[in-house]
Amino acid sequence: MDKGIKLFKVFGIQISLNYSWFIIFGLIAWSLAQGYFPQMRPDLSLTTYWLMGLITALLLFLSVLLHELSHSYVALASGIEIKGITLFIFGGLARISREPSDARTEFKIAIAGPAASLALALVFWLSSRGVDFLMPGSVISSIFYYLFLINGILVAFNLIPGFPMDGGRILRAAVWKITGNLRKATRVASVTGQAIAFLMILFGIWQILRGFFFNGMWIALIGWFIHSAAARGYQQVLMKDMLKDLRAKDLMNRDFETVSSDLSVQNLVEDYVLKRRERAFLVSDAGKLRGIVCLEDIKGVAPDLRDSTKVKDIMTPEAKLEMASPEDNGNEVLSKLSSRNIRQLPVVEEGKVQGILCRGDVLRFLHLRSELGV
Ligand SMILES: [Zn+2]
Repeated sequence: MDKGIKLFKVFGIQISLNYSWFIIFGLIAWSLAQGYFPQMRPDLSLTTYWLMGLITALLLFLSVLLHELSHSYVALASGIEIKGITLFIFGGLARISREPSDARTEFKIAIAGPAASLALALVFWLSSRGVDFLMPGSVISSIFYYLFLINGILVAFNLIPGFPMDGGRILRAAVWKITGNLRKATRVASVTGQAIAFLMILFGIWQILRGFFFNGMWIALIGWFIHSAAARGYQQVLMKDMLKDLRAKDLMNRDFETVSSDLSVQNLVEDYVLKRRERAFLVSDAGKLRGIVCLEDIKGVAPDLRDSTKVKDIMTPEAKLEMASPEDNGNEVLSKLSSRNIRQLPVVEEGKVQGILCRGDVLRFLHLRSELGV
């Protein structure tokens, strides 16, 4: 969810638009121009409705941005770096670099967003009344009134007590404060979120069956979104928690083999992968490192093409290799592996390769640890 169009920076934080945002922007402007405004103000032209729809959708976008900036500002003030804010189909997402170190900070960051939306709702309500008083019958009043409503809905929606929604983070902070255990607190908040999401999906389906197709579909869709976010959020926290005390040297594979870049993929499979049961091989010619080839690279070659394909055609060449050092933190290493979309990371110390890290290995290692409960 972090790819998109870069817009501008606020407090040094990069604001981006996810492509899905254009869909929701269009949908909102359209539903306002065709449905909401004609119903509220039956006396206006279609052009006016569309103009109102577009302006309102833009102000809604600003409202969501202010909500996220409010979270980000409190996080920054608590010493937590923000990697960026992406506005996507269901609102916004501030990418926090790490989990808050205590329940109090978590609570402050979580409440900041809904507090900003509540303040915006108040401002828009007062503005709507003010415009009504000064210029009776002005369309600006209708725009402000809608923004009052939608910011109110944003407060209610974000306070749903399921992780990773703001309400879920508040719940997590409370359980964290009481139990002193972040992992347990995350699980409680995540399970609550999934249960609420499940109820929303059921309610949505019931609404569809009763003939309220659009309302039901929206509720079910939002429920589905919360459900997957809650499950994913928990997995991520669990993973980060397990990785925080590990170093690259604990996760790397020390038993690595070197192969020649002119070797065919068929030979690589027969003579190396199957015999030595390794997942990654360093590629070197006459002692010089050329790159790395991993099981994932081989999987991309169709079996009948393996004879004619050479290792150098599928390997990650040395110039493109990211390196890690043995003392690098587990979370740093995994984020390097995932964010730059690389599959393997040689662990190098004083110019010598000490081992190889593969994303699959790290994930399997974590899976093993969680199964053993260590
Ligand atoms: Zn929020």
